Amino acid sequence: MSSSLFNGWEVVIGLEVHVQLATRSKIFSGASTATGDEPNRHASLIDLGMPGTLPVVNKEAIRNAVRFGLAINAEIGRRSVFERKNYFYPDLPKGYQTTQLAEPIVGAGEVVIRLEDGTEKTVRIHHAHLEEDAGKSLHEAFSDGMGHGQTGIDLNRAGTPLIEIVSEPDMGNAEEAVAFARQLHAIVTSLGICDGDMSQGNMRFDVNISVRRPGEPLGTRTETKNLNSFRFMEKAIKLEVERQIDVLEDGGKIVQETRLYNGDTNTARSMRTKEDANDYRYFPCPDLLPVLVSEEDIEALRAEMPELPDARKARFMDAYQLSDYDAALLAASIATARYFETAADHGGDAKLAANWVMGDLAAKLNAEDLDIAHCPVPAEHLGQLIQRIKDGTISSKIAKQVFEACWAGDGSPDQIIESRGLKQMSDSGELEKIIDQIIADSPAQVEDYRGADEAKRKKKIGFFVGQVMKATQGKANPQQVNQLLQEKLTP
Ligand code: ADP
Ligand code: MG
Repeated sequence: MSSSLFNGWEVVIGLEVHVQLATRSKIFSGASTATGDEPNRHASLIDLGMPGTLPVVNKEAIRNAVRFGLAINAEIGRRSVFERKNYFYPDLPKGYQTTQLAEPIVGAGEVVIRLEDGTEKTVRIHHAHLEEDAGKSLHEAFSDGMGHGQTGIDLNRAGTPLIEIVSEPDMGNAEEAVAFARQLHAIVTSLGICDGDMSQGNMRFDVNISVRRPGEPLGTRTETKNLNSFRFMEKAIKLEVERQIDVLEDGGKIVQETRLYNGDTNTARSMRTKEDANDYRYFPCPDLLPVLVSEEDIEALRAEMPELPDARKARFMDAYQLSDYDAALLAASIATARYFETAADHGGDAKLAANWVMGDLAAKLNAEDLDIAHCPVPAEHLGQLIQRIKDGTISSKIAKQVFEACWAGDGSPDQIIESRGLKQMSDSGELEKIIDQIIADSPAQVEDYRGADEAKRKKKIGFFVGQVMKATQGKANPQQVNQLLQEKLTP
């Protein structure tokens, strides 16, 4: 089951993933799911479970859950049941969360993940169920110097529809867990059922981790909750694996508990020992009828399924002659895929577009911690830049300069090339004059070059190329410069 050992220990990981569905209204009321508004603007009485109110289930939330089920080849629950999970928490004034337990909408399925070494692995999905989100506690410190503060409750998020996806414990290290999380992200964003903005908590990951000696039964697990970035997830897993191995090797025992990870300090702490399901006194919600999904409903949704990441990858390889690796990377997120396709179409060169998206663009996004959806350079502009490299207007070196200017908001590539006079020199007469001058000014280097053998000349020509580029401010075509120099330097 696991792919690698850590000091003789096998790591076992299972994920519970909360996916916020991109419906306009909440799961049991007509209140808006909009975010960013004043606190408690969208705190519907129904979602707060006020006496006398009755919930009505949002059909689009049901359809979204079914779409997910179809995407992972799962059995769709033709009948599913909402239950009350009872617990007290300030951000849950109802006193219970409406969720599903015994009869979820999505049954067992599977997700195929691809690892860095090119191998594939199947992660089984135990089930996925529909539920409502809770509100948010906002902690605010007073500046009274006494450490006092106050906590406010914002219930705008209460009742936002979620699907919770529960995996089998099929992952054996952080890389596999992150690959699984990314593939789920790719699937739900491709389906259009989730906006996928991790920084907004659109997807939250709870990671269950245990370790054991190979061949032994599963060890006691801990759960690290609410990770909302792939990078933090990887770090949190490594940290917890090390901690568990340390505890066990010191003769200690792992306590089944819920842990909280702090990304700023790369530390984690115990939050509470874990409750068992029966502590929650689940029972079917008497206010909601069972949800029935017919064969026709399922077939209708199946017929209109959008392209999924694996199909998109195959199409990229086929249509753009991309390698398996490039295609997989570009198809992995719907936003990246759209950006790449637009840039490739406008630029007329898929390979160049792929290199730019995975190279300079990715590096820049990474450095500024930006999602491609918020990229300051529109895909059409990258396409235009690629066109100008292809048609020889600019060299790839100047292209990097133009790209930086685009990023800074200085305009389109054509505007920048024009206003800064960055066009490559195409007049060979003008270039020849510059080269002749440089040769005339460098008698020692010319003699040195002419006295060298073939191999050494290749190196020594660099001096002249550098001089020409300096004199032309990088606007000469490097191939043309090389060719002219060789002609003129060969006696
Ligand atoms: P509970 O009923 O307590 O929520 P589940 O059996 O539903 O527990 O499992 C919850 C999650 O924990 C699942 O993703 C599952 O794969 C994972 N899991 C269960 N046992 C282990 C274990 N020993 N080590 C790691 N993960 C586990
Ligand atoms: Mg469970």
